[in-house]
Amino acid sequence: QFPFGRRLPCDIYWHGVSFHDNDIFSGQVNKFPGMTEMVRKITLSRAVRTMQDLFPLEYNFYPRSWILPEEFPLFVAEVRMMKDSDPSWKPTFIVKPDGGCQGDGIYLIKDPSDIRLTGSIQSRPAVVQEYICKPLLVDKLKFDIRLYVLLKSLEPLEIYIAKDGLSRFCTEPYQEPTLKNLHQVFMHLTNYSLNIHSGNFIHSDNVNTGSKRTFSSILCRLSSRGADVKKLWSDIISLVIKTIIALTPELKVYYQSDIPAGKPGPTCFQILGFDILLMKNLKPMLLEVNANPSMRIEHEQELSPGVFENVPSPVDEEVKVAVIRDTLRLVDPQKKKRKDVQQHIESCKNKINIRYNYFMCYRCQTLEHVSEANEELLDAGPADRREYGTTKSPEAGLPSLCLKQVFPKYAKQFNYLRLVDRVAALFIRFLGVKGTTKLGPTGFRTFVRNCKLSNSSFSMASVDILYIDITRRWNSMGIDHKESGMCLQAFVEAFFCLAQKKYKSLPLHEQVKSLIDFCEYHLAALDEKRLVCGRG
Ligand code: ADP
Repeated sequence: QFPFGRRLPCDIYWHGVSFHDNDIFSGQVNKFPGMTEMVRKITLSRAVRTMQDLFPLEYNFYPRSWILPEEFPLFVAEVRMMKDSDPSWKPTFIVKPDGGCQGDGIYLIKDPSDIRLTGSIQSRPAVVQEYICKPLLVDKLKFDIRLYVLLKSLEPLEIYIAKDGLSRFCTEPYQEPTLKNLHQVFMHLTNYSLNIHSGNFIHSDNVNTGSKRTFSSILCRLSSRGADVKKLWSDIISLVIKTIIALTPELKVYYQSDIPAGKPGPTCFQILGFDILLMKNLKPMLLEVNANPSMRIEHEQELSPGVFENVPSPVDEEVKVAVIRDTLRLVDPQKKKRKDVQQHIESCKNKINIRYNYFMCYRCQTLEHVSEANEELLDAGPADRREYGTTKSPEAGLPSLCLKQVFPKYAKQFNYLRLVDRVAALFIRFLGVKGTTKLGPTGFRTFVRNCKLSNSSFSMASVDILYIDITRRWNSMGIDHKESGMCLQAFVEAFFCLAQKKYKSLPLHEQVKSLIDFCEYHLAALDEKRLVCGRG
């Protein structure tokens, strides 16, 4: 801990809350710029909604949501329409204040008109969401899953998922919501911070019982009941990858603003907490993503009235220690150094004739002996050989990794979803001055001109009108008043609008893909021309 700052640069910076720190020019920080903002309830809902517009079937793991107060009329109208078309539909909704956590301010309603009764939507923005009425129950109780996910790198995208997580249980037997039981938080909300106050909460030293258990213990139980646990895991992996794909475009905008390309700066990684609810049919549904998941491995115990003591929590310890340990193993700078040196040696080997198991490294001008026996040391390379002497790899003796790579491992299956990432790349290209997150009117005009999007039926005057209309609306939603201009989400909306205009008959995702291809083609041609002119 450096309460008064530090003099020497560090390999790894472990921040408590967010990325921000003014003087980090190297190493790795355990937070991404903008992550806290991105996983707030409203921002996450918006990012997922954009993906739902493009790929409705792929993104049906997130409950239908509306943003309050601005979408209140839409909420009322859509619910009325759905009720009219299916009179047997008796929905329940859950209202969650934006930026809230630990169940704070959450309540259930049966009808949109009930929201008005609280009278507070103007003062506190919130998300209202369809309530999942038929969750999977274990021991008649509702529970949710907390899974730990490591976002190791944004560019290239690298995602790891912890093999085990936590299951957090309600403390009252579950009943489907009725007007009578809507207010019973111990029945409907799985938050640990709420249920700990119920007299029924069970602290257990056994990971298979009690109000907090390992997720693997639930999987064992499901498997013994004949459930397809493999399918469940693959659905969860897919949910995690798709959610991160929804978040990456805006994260990249924050990233280039705080760590401009070409300037010295750190790289980032982050442990995220995914809260997932299983439906009765075992379909996983995303509830929320936490940028600062609790890593506590103790809980408070009341020894005598009013006297508390922190005691170890074996369930938390089993899951969380492995997550932190493996995160540090994966971001270990020595490991990266060993990998770089190995790549260097590999490239040398390709260039030079290897005779008698010797090779000459042109860069370091040394003669290296290659043999099976010192394979491990060779991994470490010449520099590290001196550093480590003949000691074994620092990984030796550690348990196998609990964090499993899922991306780029499954990239092929998911890359087609990364359209908004490409739109964000266009946005970032035209941002101009480094350090901003919003596009000015000139930047937008240059984008349209360079991509050859303006023509006789779409004049530059219409381009300006489009910019003003969309930017004004997004800025009036009061998301970020710090900078003026067009935010990424507004640019995405404008981009979708242009795509619909240009490629009328196609489905939305094909319209957007066609327009991205079109823009990238013209920008590549422009870059080529500039390069030739520059040489000339
Ligand atoms: P918080 O950040 O305040 O914990 P969550 O979105 O995690 O907010 O919601 C709190 C709890 O409410 C969840 O742990 C879950 O038990 C319940 N919950 C949230 N959304 C839904 C939903 N759409 N359907 C059913 N239960 C939900």
